[in-house]
Amino acid sequence: MEMRQVNNHKVYRANRNRVFQYILRHDLTTRSEIAHALNLSMPTIINIVKSLMDDGLVYEAGAAQSNGGRKAVTLSCNTRARVSVGMDITLHHISVVFVDIKGAVILKEKTVRPFERSGEYYAFLARLIDRCMLSHDIDPALILGVGISVPGRLSGDSRTLLYSHVLNESNMLCSELESCIPFPCRFCNDANAAALAELWNNHSIGTAVYLSVSDSVGGAVIINDVLYTGENQLAGEFGHMTLVEDGKPCYCGKRGCADAYCAASSLSALAEGKLDAFFSLLRQNHAPATQAWQAYLANLSILINNLRMAFDCPVILGGYIGEYIEPYIDALREMAGRRNTFFADASYIRAATFQHEPSAVGAALLFIEPFIAQI
Ligand SMILES: [Zn+2]
Repeated sequence: MEMRQVNNHKVYRANRNRVFQYILRHDLTTRSEIAHALNLSMPTIINIVKSLMDDGLVYEAGAAQSNGGRKAVTLSCNTRARVSVGMDITLHHISVVFVDIKGAVILKEKTVRPFERSGEYYAFLARLIDRCMLSHDIDPALILGVGISVPGRLSGDSRTLLYSHVLNESNMLCSELESCIPFPCRFCNDANAAALAELWNNHSIGTAVYLSVSDSVGGAVIINDVLYTGENQLAGEFGHMTLVEDGKPCYCGKRGCADAYCAASSLSALAEGKLDAFFSLLRQNHAPATQAWQAYLANLSILINNLRMAFDCPVILGGYIGEYIEPYIDALREMAGRRNTFFADASYIRAATFQHEPSAVGAALLFIEPFIAQI
């Protein structure tokens, strides 16, 4: 191909992608609206839309409202053109979600199954995916891949789970799962996956720290809307910052880590392991629950203020606690504000906007983003 042809082809591909993304974001648009918004000629738009329709990515949805004259035909994105699967693996549970190319959750399921590194466990995962596909009539040919959220440290290429304290496992290969699951698989750290879901939900985060507080404490650092993972894929391991010298034992083997004070399990332990039951006791002004909550908030506010001092950016509170924090966020802000050397205003603390199964959804998005980028 000549250089000019190569350049023309590149421009065509770039414009095709812009048109697709425009239709993805603006449901029920028209050819002329796209031409106007993207500053492209009508013949170009007609040509690109035809090729997107030929590929099953876009369809004509009907006639647009008009003030007389010929009605324009509206265009919509075929959000089910591809599907991605996300799984969140914890020590005792597996959550599975299927998302469409808009990142919308088509289905979700949570199952109790203790983790084990075995062919039997991987086959269980494969059957779980199979069952979900059957129950929702999803064609396996449309599945882009399976993103797997795990609580641990990954290799740079995300193909190996180097170490997980929580799962008590090391050097687990993605290919072990692929030998049972008939789709491409990819690991993602659980807190990073949750931050990806938050980013997807809110494209204008910019720079923020995501603090994930569930049965363990983790986090992620988002700089200019991109995850910063660090030299050793360990950026955001806020749970193992020391909060109290020689304090309570942490599951990692050290003492005094933030995790030992801020993990949600320290609250649910007071209500037979159920966090919902703990918050219900708190709402009823149950004295031991109230006392535990005040002590918990004090520790959480220290951790959050430390993050604010390190990063000077918003701190987004996610994980299980993020789902419950809204009625108490002012109290938390006040505590963090009192600790801050420079400003008493702690409105930089925000509750996560994406609250249900963020790690599983974020893992599924690992396959959606590159798919959209190559259209
Ligand atoms: Zn620790």
